[in-house]
Amino acid sequence: MAKTPFKIFEFLEDISASLTDLAARELSVLKALKKREEGDFPFGIEDLLYYIKRFQEQQFDLDFGAIKQYFPVNLVLSGVFKIFQDLLGLRFEEVGDPKVWHRDVRLFKVFDLSSGESLGYFYLDLYKREGKYSQTCVVALQNRSLCNKNICQMPVVMLIAQFQNDTDSHPGLLRFSEVVNFFHEFGHVIQHICNRASFVRFSGLRVDPDFVEIPAQVFENWCYESLSLKLISGFYQEELCKSLRRWRYGFSALKLKQEILYSLFDQIIHSADNVDVVELFKHLHPKVMLGLPMLEGTNPATCFPRSAIGYEASCYSRIWSEVFATDIFTSKFRDDLLDPDVGMKFRNKVLAPGGAKDPVKILTDFLGREPSVQAFIDSRMDHSLL
Ligand SMILES: [Zn+2]
Repeated sequence: MAKTPFKIFEFLEDISASLTDLAARELSVLKALKKREEGDFPFGIEDLLYYIKRFQEQQFDLDFGAIKQYFPVNLVLSGVFKIFQDLLGLRFEEVGDPKVWHRDVRLFKVFDLSSGESLGYFYLDLYKREGKYSQTCVVALQNRSLCNKNICQMPVVMLIAQFQNDTDSHPGLLRFSEVVNFFHEFGHVIQHICNRASFVRFSGLRVDPDFVEIPAQVFENWCYESLSLKLISGFYQEELCKSLRRWRYGFSALKLKQEILYSLFDQIIHSADNVDVVELFKHLHPKVMLGLPMLEGTNPATCFPRSAIGYEASCYSRIWSEVFATDIFTSKFRDDLLDPDVGMKFRNKVLAPGGAKDPVKILTDFLGREPSVQAFIDSRMDHSLL
């Protein structure tokens, strides 16, 4: 989607510069907290995550252990189903007695609500068990393709999660992070099924790597809105919802700067030969991290974020997706989270073309203008506590 490294450098530097003032305010709060707790020791990069956590513990009345009890798996599942079905004009029907690899696994068939056309199948393998693959992810089992005029190969996809199953005395409960993750992964399931590209090469999740996460990132936003929280939880309080939103954006400018640092590093080492990685980090670190030097005697390049491994030169794509997902959510969905007209437009214009159409054109077509970084910057500014 980005097409050139120049565009990526420009994007990262633009976001970084826009967040500098906010990041500086965040840093001074953390420095003051360290001074209160430890006295006159200099603040280093090694203090960052620790003091963010300390500050959030002191400021937010959020007990994630207690919040968990409001998210029983079955309630979350029915809420998520309702949101996706109502919003995107879909109908899910459980297939009775499917041939599956374990009794916990469920199979669903997806239909277009108005025409009744079958669109595809998804398996849910949600619960932890011994010997099971231990990640939460979506696996494309079969991509859609058009074999001839009237015959279509159905998309089939599977979602694997690691939820705690019900026991005799307790229902299975989800941590809030698992709820967000489930929304995200289920977004990929729907993306896979709603992709109408005619060729396997472009259907399912086979779209540009810096575009593939955008729809799932858009759907994550429903987890922080009162209306949808009500649908997916057994309890709901406006105050809790506000706290979750504040927590989501807490110190986001500093955290983003750190991610931008790695993304710039990743772009540079994959754009030039014979780079001295230690020197490069030494140079980039204070430049991006508001003067904070790299921790002496370490080599941060050896602990690259796990999410970036195997995605050489595309580390930027996580921020990239979040930025454009925020643009989509803010301008089209935020004011009416369940508007079926907007949902249908999203399905037809963003999900349906898949990899067969240029992603910038896809987003421009849906938004009615070119995608912009502004909504993302504003969201960080608006929700900042500082
Ligand atoms: Zn994803």
